Amino acid sequence: MVRDEHRHRRAKAGGGRRKLSAELSEADCRKDEFLATLAHELRSPLAPIRNGLEIMRLSGGRREAVEKARGMMERQLGQLVRLVDDLLDVSRISRGKLELRKERVDLAVVLNNAVETCRPLIDSNGHKLTVGMPAQPVFVDADVTRLAQAFANLLSNAAKYSERGGRIALTAERQGGDAVVSVKDGGVGIPPDMLPKIFEMFTQVDRTLERSQGGLGIGLTLVKKLVDMHGGSVEAKSDGDGRGSEFVVRLPMASAAVREVKPSSEEDEPACPSGQCRILVADDNEDAADSLAMMLQIMGNEVRTTNDGLQAVEAAEAFRPDVILLDIGMPKLNGYEVCRRIREQPGGKKVVLIALTGWGQEQDKRRSQEAGFDHHMVKPVDPAALEKLLAGPSDATGK
Ligand code: ADP
Repeated sequence: MVRDEHRHRRAKAGGGRRKLSAELSEADCRKDEFLATLAHELRSPLAPIRNGLEIMRLSGGRREAVEKARGMMERQLGQLVRLVDDLLDVSRISRGKLELRKERVDLAVVLNNAVETCRPLIDSNGHKLTVGMPAQPVFVDADVTRLAQAFANLLSNAAKYSERGGRIALTAERQGGDAVVSVKDGGVGIPPDMLPKIFEMFTQVDRTLERSQGGLGIGLTLVKKLVDMHGGSVEAKSDGDGRGSEFVVRLPMASAAVREVKPSSEEDEPACPSGQCRILVADDNEDAADSLAMMLQIMGNEVRTTNDGLQAVEAAEAFRPDVILLDIGMPKLNGYEVCRRIREQPGGKKVVLIALTGWGQEQDKRRSQEAGFDHHMVKPVDPAALEKLLAGPSDATGK
């Protein structure tokens, strides 16, 4: 009897182990597939960027060729930045580190934001987008950027998975206490057996690289998580191959708008009202520091660079800049410490200090604020946002 029980337990343990091992090997497979897709997706924009550089080198300064190459490189770089942003977001979400900055907002603002993001992709594929919004504002409590990101993912999927010249419909309506948004396309559709799995991480219906539409299989995972974090739900519908797809997002409506009156503050003051600044750039990545300095010089500023924290403190004292752009992760003295020391120098309270970092979460922003920074910008810095911050009223978001 005892021996039977023993055998039974051993068999059960063996079954558990086999199941666990099968699960692990499936996870391992998915990870390998994901890494192959990731390498492919990261490499695709690199080829045109490298070609663009070569075109610039060979063009002998012919304006038309340089402009064309530049436009192409800008688009491809945008694609790379998006991929890396998505990867970071997914990792933040799975570690529970993504924070929302919610405010009461008209859903139309969020949807317009998403449409604006996807417009180039939709137009370049010759698709026709129709948008149907309710006549009255529909308010939701949302992080505008994050919720718009979710809808932009759905819209760009509709564009990616439709034949050229397709029709895409974006509609929003009230249903009881909910705001319901539908993104519908007449594209390739989703097989019924894939519908329940489609929101899982790394899931792609057709993984063959030839048919890959440029993605990592994490867009819908992000959509689901972001919608969940807004207290909503998302559902995928499709009648199968070639018969289009529809994604329906349901969000709880907020009662009425509370207008946030932004107090006028120092943040609205331009850093350099004359449009010409003395700027110190400190970054241990020399190419990053030099290219940022070049860009700022072309914008009409006087710029110095340094490549470590101690040099940055000395240069601040000698050069007396109006603005200092400081990388946080620098050798010898990190950006926070550099910032504290500069604040203690004569005139150090007046200088505009901008943190440049790869981390854009609330806690990172708080940390740089505590160290004495005026602004926090996430790398790669958007030149337009930086120019705005230097010469005009700013929102200092760095995005
Ligand atoms: P990605 O587009 O990067 O592959 P997503 O997570 O956004 O990843 O989507 C997962 C998969 O779902 C896609 O690879 C595609 O097979 C399928 N899919 C998503 N949206 C649509 C759509 N509108 N029409 C058809 N298939 C879709």
